[in-house]
Amino acid sequence: MRRASKIPSWRKTHLRRTPQLIQKPSGKTAIASAKHRHNTREKGTDMELTRRNFLGAAGAAGAVVIAGGALAGCAPTQAKSSDSSAESSAHTWETKPEPVADISSAESADVVVIGGGMAGFSAACSAAEKGAKVILIEKTGAAQFRGIDYGAVGGKIQLEVGIDLRDRKNDVLQEVLRWGGHRGDYRVVKAWLDNSAEALDWAADMLSSHGIQVAPMPIEMQVIPDAWYEHFATDAFQIVPTDELIAEGGEAGYEPPYAIGWAKAFTAYAEEIGVDVRFNSEALQLVQAEDGTVTGVVYEGENGTVQVDAKSVVLATGGYGADEEMMDAFIPNHAEDIHNITTPAHNTGDGIRMGAWAGAAIDPVPHCPMYFDEGVEGLEHMPSIPLTRQPWLYLNDLGERFCNEDMPYAYVCRAHNAQPRHMKWVIWDAKWETDGPAMGMIVCKDFRSPLHDPEQIKQFIEDGSIMSADTIDELLSKMEGIDAETAKKTIEHYNELCANGEDTDFGKRKQCLSSITEPPFYAVHAGTTLLVTLGGLQINENQQVIDANANPIPGLWAAGNCSGSFFFDDYPITISGVSHGRACTGGRRAGQFAADAALNA
Ligand SMILES: Cc1cc2nc3c(=O)[nH]c(=O)nc-3n(C[C@H](O)[C@H](O)[C@H](O)COP(=O)(O)OP(=O)(O)OC[C@H]3O[C@@H](n4cnc5c(N)ncnc54)[C@H](O)[C@@H]3O)c2cc1C
Repeated sequence: MRRASKIPSWRKTHLRRTPQLIQKPSGKTAIASAKHRHNTREKGTDMELTRRNFLGAAGAAGAVVIAGGALAGCAPTQAKSSDSSAESSAHTWETKPEPVADISSAESADVVVIGGGMAGFSAACSAAEKGAKVILIEKTGAAQFRGIDYGAVGGKIQLEVGIDLRDRKNDVLQEVLRWGGHRGDYRVVKAWLDNSAEALDWAADMLSSHGIQVAPMPIEMQVIPDAWYEHFATDAFQIVPTDELIAEGGEAGYEPPYAIGWAKAFTAYAEEIGVDVRFNSEALQLVQAEDGTVTGVVYEGENGTVQVDAKSVVLATGGYGADEEMMDAFIPNHAEDIHNITTPAHNTGDGIRMGAWAGAAIDPVPHCPMYFDEGVEGLEHMPSIPLTRQPWLYLNDLGERFCNEDMPYAYVCRAHNAQPRHMKWVIWDAKWETDGPAMGMIVCKDFRSPLHDPEQIKQFIEDGSIMSADTIDELLSKMEGIDAETAKKTIEHYNELCANGEDTDFGKRKQCLSSITEPPFYAVHAGTTLLVTLGGLQINENQQVIDANANPIPGLWAAGNCSGSFFFDDYPITISGVSHGRACTGGRRAGQFAADAALNA
């Protein structure tokens, strides 16, 4: 059955998946094994309750509701008490806690970066390259990276394989904004476009020079030439999945395992150029001067509660997919729509909260989730195998076909979310090994990608996650909840469309018309997976965090998924890898601006 509407086991699941570093006696760090993390958690050092602990310890002692909840202007440094009825109705990000009282030590830096993912490491290393003294604060025990695609326009690695979208920047700009119903800020999206090539080259060089091989994404794995919607070949490169990375990353919980390449390279590079990386350190609050200028951060780490005074602070704490309060407020319907979760447990919206307490504006609701059409019933987390995500025949519980199955996957999710139980039945037959690849799907739906795993397919068939049967009747009898009679008629009609070679109902591409005629027949009951959230603190084109009047908050920058002003409504998967591209480019620029401001202060 689908999960209940309130958050159940997935937080635990993703805590298991969050890679951790352990401190070695030498002072060096190493990625810890799952067993070690488990043991650590049992000893009570896990991060799960950090925000609640903090609010319990500091916030509950004396919180203030930010005037009108509008989050406009800079909030006062010292909070005033508020009446309890307002407190109880306000969201936590509208309620500024009293400053943390028990600071055990104080220190200083030019730039403090909060968050050690793609945006945070890009920011910290870029600031250090400028000569700034940089401290990076990361609440888990390791650098956090996931996924495979990296998006940019005009990078060397793209030009070398003949992919040149430089004269199509305006089309890419329009495409990103169109996916967001033009609610994004043109200037912020354009800043990514104009700077993405430089950041891409920097990131690819950094990986290569630290022993991580990268390979360009060929155009035929990014673009479906005759699709009814246009793909832009922005997916610049992927890390080569070596056996070593797969083994190491698998053990440490990276997803896919070879994403550990990013963590290894960035951690090593940061150390080389003098970034003071502090794992197992959770930022609690920003420090502000009377005039609202951000002047530092208070964090809780292995040595107690520390205040770092800094001339510049960069927020890079990622999204809030693991925070139920923010999900409820910013992504209405998520409880009904989302079936599986791959959101990391550390994405609890901390930076968005801290920024809002400092007076920042948050993107208007609804925010943009990154939805994938890979959630299969019965599996808490579905590895993204291409097989179940092809545009086979999709039916709803009424046994009816309801869409052109060959849509970008964010739209597939929207379509099945509108059906009973917010899910779809995916049905295919024995011809999948030839008909699947012939559909010409790309990126993470491509049978040529490392995500295609025949062993896993066998395992899913054996354990029933993929249902199979030798007759249509038998298959339908296994598909609990479907109207079998109508479904049978729909399958017959669909087979006629396939035989005629034209989808006169919904216009699906001819290559995707694979009939349901050859046993064994297969089905999965599939819904939506949430990867990450993409709405956050409003920023300007220089990554400065802004208030409701678009005034920058002095001393504060943001990048990656805790920043907003970019994505709305749906994640533009026709601009593949733009999420990583935005995080790295925005992080790099935020780090550079923050360093310039600090060094010229
Ligand atoms: C399974 C999966 C696959 C994906 N695949 C792709 C892909 O192929 N291409 C793509 O473009 N995107 C992909 N994404 C999305 C992409 O991973 C994210 O958009 C990207 O990681 C965002 O980077 P970030 O630095 O903003 O956030 P994160 O990577 O979430 O990093 C934020 C960091 O901040 C830390 N942090 C949070 N709060 C605090 C605090 N209070 N104090 C200190 N530290 C804190 C967190 O522990 C974390 O390390 C994928 C996502 C998932 C889940």
